[in-house]
Amino acid sequence: MKIAIASGKGGTGKTTVASSLISVWESPVIAMDLDVEEPNLHLFLNPTFTGKKPANMEIPKADNTLCSQCGKCSELCQFKAISLMGEVLMTFPEMCHGCGGCIAICPEGALTPEFRELGEISWGLSGRAEFLMGRLRVGEAMSPPLMRAVKEKLKEMMNVSSKDVIPKDVIIDAPPGVSCPAINAVMDSDVILLVTEPTPFGFYDMKLAHEAFSPMNIPMGVVVNRAGLGNNKVYDYCTAEELEIMAEIPYDRKIAEAYANGCIIAESSDEMKNIFMSLAEKIKQKAGCKNAAEVCRD
Ligand code: SF4
Ligand code: SF4
Repeated sequence: MKIAIASGKGGTGKTTVASSLISVWESPVIAMDLDVEEPNLHLFLNPTFTGKKPANMEIPKADNTLCSQCGKCSELCQFKAISLMGEVLMTFPEMCHGCGGCIAICPEGALTPEFRELGEISWGLSGRAEFLMGRLRVGEAMSPPLMRAVKEKLKEMMNVSSKDVIPKDVIIDAPPGVSCPAINAVMDSDVILLVTEPTPFGFYDMKLAHEAFSPMNIPMGVVVNRAGLGNNKVYDYCTAEELEIMAEIPYDRKIAEAYANGCIIAESSDEMKNIFMSLAEKIKQKAGCKNAAEVCRD
């Protein structure tokens, strides 16, 4: 089972929820930070890193002496990352998504692959949980290809082919927002948790996220952080949209202090531990609902 912890905007407590859920998760679990532009799950889980590797993307390198200026590559590239300007072929590596299409289509062999470093993938252990994260290189804007590389590493760690191994669950700290990286992070999950706060901004961004993720037909629930603050708009929306509020984290000074000190809030009191254990159970039930719905559809 994969659970994506998402939010319509940053600063709602997404990583706080992810780290606490991981700390109470009973079955084998991989904590995966896909917020590659600003990964910070490791600051809470404090993993011991056991490995790392650079993540590269294949981009085209042009040899103008071989190019016949047929224009097929620039017609194909939907990102305008390769372009014929007069008789000169130009490439724009920062805009390339690494699909390899232009290299495959070139009839003259004028395009060959070279690599551009996107960032780094690192992994390790945090207590009972395995840990995996990606970090985008400073100045790099292309996070989805790095996220794909992190997911490839996840497949290795899942070890699903072995019959002796209990299947591992994955808890994903997704990037905030509703743009390409956020969609990429949640798209193959079994349950999406939207973390929000009961403020006008929290409501607006949760609504955006709900609308953006709904077409994927993945069961969704809401965690209200800083409950007791603000107004009722989040609650009214969830009722109207039949969106389950799966947990509420109270607006409390002690919780804020635990967070500010980099502590896992589920470990700060029995009350918080119970909130997250109950959330874990509800997530499992929700994932079960999805499976049942799929069986019914089939
Ligand atoms: S690899 Fe794909 S995205 Fe990059 S320049 Fe070629 S066609 Fe465009
Ligand atoms: S497809 Fe090949 S030959 Fe045609 S313009 Fe592009 S690089 Fe040149």
